[in-house]
Amino acid sequence: MTTRTLVTIDRKAVRQNVASVFARSRKRIFAVVKNNAYNLGMLEMVETLTASDVHHFAVAELYEAIEIKTNFPDSYVLVMNPTEDFETARRFGIALGVSSLEWLALNSKQLQGIELHLKINVGMNRFGVSSLQEAEAVLALAQADSLALTGLYTHFPLADEPDADHDGQVERFVAIADVLRKRHTFTYMHSENSATIVKHDPRLAFCNYVRPGIFLFGYSPIEKMDWLVPSLRMTTEVVEIREIGPGEHVGYGTNFTSTEPMRIAILPVGYGDGVVRGRAALPVHIKEKPYPVINKLFMSHTFVAVDGTVEVGDEVVLYGDGVEIDDITRTGAANNSEQMCARSWRLTHQYL
Ligand SMILES: *Cc1c(COP(=O)(O)O)cnc(C)c1O
Repeated sequence: MTTRTLVTIDRKAVRQNVASVFARSRKRIFAVVKNNAYNLGMLEMVETLTASDVHHFAVAELYEAIEIKTNFPDSYVLVMNPTEDFETARRFGIALGVSSLEWLALNSKQLQGIELHLKINVGMNRFGVSSLQEAEAVLALAQADSLALTGLYTHFPLADEPDADHDGQVERFVAIADVLRKRHTFTYMHSENSATIVKHDPRLAFCNYVRPGIFLFGYSPIEKMDWLVPSLRMTTEVVEIREIGPGEHVGYGTNFTSTEPMRIAILPVGYGDGVVRGRAALPVHIKEKPYPVINKLFMSHTFVAVDGTVEVGDEVVLYGDGVEIDDITRTGAANNSEQMCARSWRLTHQYL
């Protein structure tokens, strides 16, 4: 049985975003599909991306890579989190990120036949080597043990912060990459996440791949991008209408008190379905008309102030029709990946 709250994911939107990202970057795409492709369905998104001629994928964890390689054997998959299960990586032909010099030194004898991408840490302080000395030591080890060091990459944590030192971080990466590239040929060089792609930084021209996630799905971590097509639509329906008088509350608690007679529509969806409470920051749409959410979202219910035209059974648009994930993000109520990832996978998902 399908749920009354429906999630529709538009593959055509994803394909359009792929084309737009390619048109803007003129680079091949290493698509980030971690966390179930930002909770849009990893295999469905990999299938969609593959149809758009994207065959390189980056994930956080090994189990995600196994799933991709099992279903799409011709794909190329990079696991970015450190792992120790080298046997599995080798068997499935999965590439691994080099997360530190210590990790490589400790494991270099077991890494034969596994492609490795060296990560440079420029300030995120999560994974990667942090200095030229360490990077050179990685290179020396890889050459001594005949490892397949095929990739070089970094991640820019300040790309979406206008006043932060993103520039300095680019400089740090470029300085290390310049030295390494003179001594070693890397097949895959990638650094630009969504926010970095639109900076068109000439210093990163040597990178032959971009590594976006959120742009592919139609959302922007920075300002609004007119060319992005949101891929997710979410609807539910009105299950009850209540008329209340002045001085009444709705839902739990006394956060909301009416000042006049009101008509309230009850929606069968709440934070238990992974709709973040911040969704209340902007109206929902019923028959293309906006109506405000009142009080805050509850676990399985949401209250909306409506007029006489709204009836039980009417479709309610929670995401779509002009209120998109990005619009909620811009109110400061919840960021876009958070809204995507919070949504319950128990809701019925349809793919267009
Ligand atoms: C999530 C992630 C990305 C993609 O970032 P977006 O902002 O979604 O484009 C790229 N690289 C790394 C290392 C990541 O963790």
